[in-house]
Amino acid sequence: MSIALPSDEKERDRVWNDFLTCINTMVSKQTIETWFKPMRLLPSDGDCVAIECPSKFFIDWVEEHHRDKIMYAFRKALGFEPALRFVNGNESPDEILAKRTGVSQAQAPQQLRKKPHYKGDQLNPKYTFGEFVVGSNSRMTYAACLAVSEKPAVVYNPLFIYGGVGLGKTHLMQAIGHYVLENNLSHKVHYSSAETFMNELITAIRLGNSHEFRERYRTVDILLIDDVQFLAGKESTQEEFFHTFNSLHGSRKQIVVTSDRGLITDIQPPDYETRLAILRKKVEKDKVEIPDDVLALIADSVKSNIRELEGSLVKLLVHASVYKRDIELDMAKEVLKDFIKSSTKKISISTIQKVVAQHFRVPADAMKSKIRTAKYAFPRQVAIYLSRELTNCSLTQIGQRFGGRDHTTVIHACQKIRELLDRDVSLKATVRQLMKDLS
Ligand code: ADP
Ligand code: MG
Repeated sequence: MSIALPSDEKERDRVWNDFLTCINTMVSKQTIETWFKPMRLLPSDGDCVAIECPSKFFIDWVEEHHRDKIMYAFRKALGFEPALRFVNGNESPDEILAKRTGVSQAQAPQQLRKKPHYKGDQLNPKYTFGEFVVGSNSRMTYAACLAVSEKPAVVYNPLFIYGGVGLGKTHLMQAIGHYVLENNLSHKVHYSSAETFMNELITAIRLGNSHEFRERYRTVDILLIDDVQFLAGKESTQEEFFHTFNSLHGSRKQIVVTSDRGLITDIQPPDYETRLAILRKKVEKDKVEIPDDVLALIADSVKSNIRELEGSLVKLLVHASVYKRDIELDMAKEVLKDFIKSSTKKISISTIQKVVAQHFRVPADAMKSKIRTAKYAFPRQVAIYLSRELTNCSLTQIGQRFGGRDHTTVIHACQKIRELLDRDVSLKATVRQLMKDLS
């Protein structure tokens, strides 16, 4: 097949703009800033699209995390899938030239285009149970996913994972796939986003091979469909999906579905300790050195989304690798400035005390009072918990604001509420409502 890549500059700009527009629909603004703004589309070189990036680390990261999206966006912008390679802008022109002549050979495109089925190929290698940090927010979901992995199609079928954006739905869902494949419980695992499912269906209809499409989806043992909220309003895809669903369910195959709407198995945002544990784990795994106070700064500032938690870590690493700087607190504050600002909502302890007192219909001074009857103590503990979750105040500062209590009282209150939240759904709903009222 002969393919035409843009050779003149105007056409290249157009392709690059279309490319970015498409990427924009798939990743967060922060990812665009960190990863896509620093890229540059180089003049075409044989049948290969070349993108210049600022460092080796940058290229490794992009290869691991964004390659699929990049290929997809190029497919959209160019109308076909080109071969792709990354060029390290920090290398000497000689090195670049040597690599260029090496890659523009005919084998590259085929190598890059292969698209295998079944096996773990659609799964992100890092989304395993081992990599997942379990916190009180995700314990139930984690347990359900593990149970499904151990006994597919026996315990929960379908398993429905619900939770806000960036809280680990995709991660846990793929962990099921990895587990099952690794332990040879089945070799037919298929992961797709609902969007891919739809696109494949449309292509199948267009090419007249819907039969093949059905075969593909209806002969798996474990079907993982991510982000089904995408199917809202897309009636015919929904219908096809339900046929697939029924057919698999009827033959006792496991189905796992995620959504950011609905409510079955619910992942809540992680608490401070879990956020810190997640950061520590990432740092450990990537074998990078980041001082504890910097990790604490990130855990303190980024509260609601684990992807952003990771994103800020990565932003630091990129900055350090591009500008050859050490990662320390002041540097982190500077690099993460916008990020920290946007995710820190200024909620004060006194607002929390007022809102909680009103909710439980106790006088405002119950929050500071020494009275320990449950009628006062419980709302106070809830307010302490919320102060810990929603403000950047230290344990001591929180204790002081609650009638001069010491930090162990604060720890105790937080622990107690956390434990209750695990088993008391009505408290869970109350706390969620209070958080909503406060934000
Ligand atoms: P969702 O699908 O809910 O939007 P993802 O599964 O894509 O979220 O998670 C976003 C990022 O955060 C991923 O890189 C994932 O590995 C990471 N992540 C989420 N939850 C955890 C966790 N509990 N422990 C470790 N990493 C996590
Ligand atoms: Mg997801």
